[in-house]
Amino acid sequence: MGSRCFAVGTAAGSRLRRVSEEGCIFCGIATGEVPGDVVRRTERVVAFRDLRQQAPTHVLVIPVGHHRDVAALAAADPAVLAELVEVGAAVASDEAGGPFRLVFNTGAEVGQSVFHAHGHVLAGRSFGWPPG
Ligand code: 5GP
Ligand code: ZN
Repeated sequence: MGSRCFAVGTAAGSRLRRVSEEGCIFCGIATGEVPGDVVRRTERVVAFRDLRQQAPTHVLVIPVGHHRDVAALAAADPAVLAELVEVGAAVASDEAGGPFRLVFNTGAEVGQSVFHAHGHVLAGRSFGWPPG
């Protein structure tokens, strides 16, 4: 197994964009090198069940390419972020009839623990507001 790091040229050709980060567990799940309970996949987005389920449906939706958080993803590739939301909505529709909460913890101070952009799709029960 082992993690790999590879880079591709951007449209400009001069800069290099890292698409897989060495040691990143979610890069590993995206490539299939690390096992994950994948429920939906497109070329650019993967949805898989969170290890610690907080709701009847608790799925993480991630870009295949490595970005440290959702803000970095939005800046680099907004179309992939839109696709990620579509995939999350489709999972919630399949598993819980539609309604869902989508959470992007962004920064360690607010609870981000894995620094590969991911949205938590939570569905199948009601949730309190404000979140703790
Ligand atoms: P964060 O705290 O960064 O918003 O969310 C990270 C989530 O990733 C946590 O809910 C945690 O349970 C989940 N997680 C961490 N490592 C793994 C893993 O190896 N596989 C899966 N499926 N989920 C993971
Ligand atoms: Zn990654």
